[in-house]
Amino acid sequence: MDLYEYQGKQYFARFGIPVSPGGVADTVDEAVERAEQAGYPVVVKAQVKVGGRGKAGGIKLANDADEVRRHAGAILGMDIRGHIVHRLWVEHASDIAKEYYASFTLDRTAKKHLGMLSAEGGVEIEEVAANNPEAIARLHIDPLRGLDEDTARRWVADARLDEEAQAPAAALLVSLYRCFVEGDCDLAEINPLVLTPDGRVHTLDAKVTLDDNAKFRHPEWEEYAATETDDPREKMAKERGLNYIGLSGDVGIIANGAGLAMSTLDVVTQVGGKAANFLDIGGGANADVMSAALEVINADPSVRAIFVNIFGGITRVDEVAKGVIEALGRVELRSPIVLRLDGTNAEEGRALLAPRLSDRLLAAPTMLEAARQVVALAAAGADASEERS
Ligand code: GDP
Ligand code: MN
Repeated sequence: MDLYEYQGKQYFARFGIPVSPGGVADTVDEAVERAEQAGYPVVVKAQVKVGGRGKAGGIKLANDADEVRRHAGAILGMDIRGHIVHRLWVEHASDIAKEYYASFTLDRTAKKHLGMLSAEGGVEIEEVAANNPEAIARLHIDPLRGLDEDTARRWVADARLDEEAQAPAAALLVSLYRCFVEGDCDLAEINPLVLTPDGRVHTLDAKVTLDDNAKFRHPEWEEYAATETDDPREKMAKERGLNYIGLSGDVGIIANGAGLAMSTLDVVTQVGGKAANFLDIGGGANADVMSAALEVINADPSVRAIFVNIFGGITRVDEVAKGVIEALGRVELRSPIVLRLDGTNAEEGRALLAPRLSDRLLAAPTMLEAARQVVALAAAGADASEERS
């Protein structure tokens, strides 16, 4: 589960990581109130779970109530890369001498925690990694040993943080690591981590992903559930109990099992298409689940073709086929479907579907062939809609 910046900062604060005083606001009046409490100058910040808010105009400095009104009014309701701003975070503005980058994640291949630290913060870390990889100091941490202050001191020197920043940055990184481990994060990122002109090291932005598998030992995470997603597709899927992630392409994907869903995404990409979503319907591919999945995908206006990729194991393909047929009776689909059904009882499943096949419901023998067909259909759908407009 991803947190909003303000939630991430509140999470950090519990572990003693320095953040600026501030508050959330859902209206312009509230924003002014928060600004008065935090003390001018303030920064008015769009709360959306997507990066690059600054570049998109979602982060503004304000020196008085009039400026807060103006910026808050402009930012609330703004569309930042498909995310509508409903909430602001208003905090006391910091003076910046330097912008750094710091993060902890899990390196699954190395079976260790990975810390990344750079004196070149403020820009996207992918950009630094591509243009100037030696500017990132990577530190692998054995989870059984943890991160001590001495190691952190060598790390900040290695990353060439400014001399006066090194001691406070090392202390902050030890706290951030504790937050990452004890707070059960998959990602704890600060970008930018700033050095102020008076020599303090401070968090200006927070990106936190919590490890959902650790939910059982964090009753306090309950409060995040209410604000978990602002993607209407994900909300709809969640209400239907589906494991769904919205993406930006035009090929809707339904698969059983997370592994197969990911492979399906890869194959669609490989043949030149772009997935509109990731959707794993798990083991129970019955009519209810299939209808729910098709409904969610159907409600996404960017979808132009749907790829149903099922490999029967315990789930029998003839049951899946019945599910698809029944679902088609319930949901009026805007886009054509390509089915690839394989595994247990595949023959029986295909036989059930054979009489229903048409130019709106196609079947392909292999995953690759199905991917080619669905990507071609999506492209044809895009051409047709351009002609109409
Ligand atoms: P992002 O664009 O979504 O990553 O949002 P950030 O919170 O990282 O803010 C983007 C940029 O706005 C930062 O890199 C800073 O340069 C600037 N910024 C954010 N907060 C402050 C602040 O308190 N003071 C000043 N001077 N600039 C800030
Ligand atoms: Mn940032």
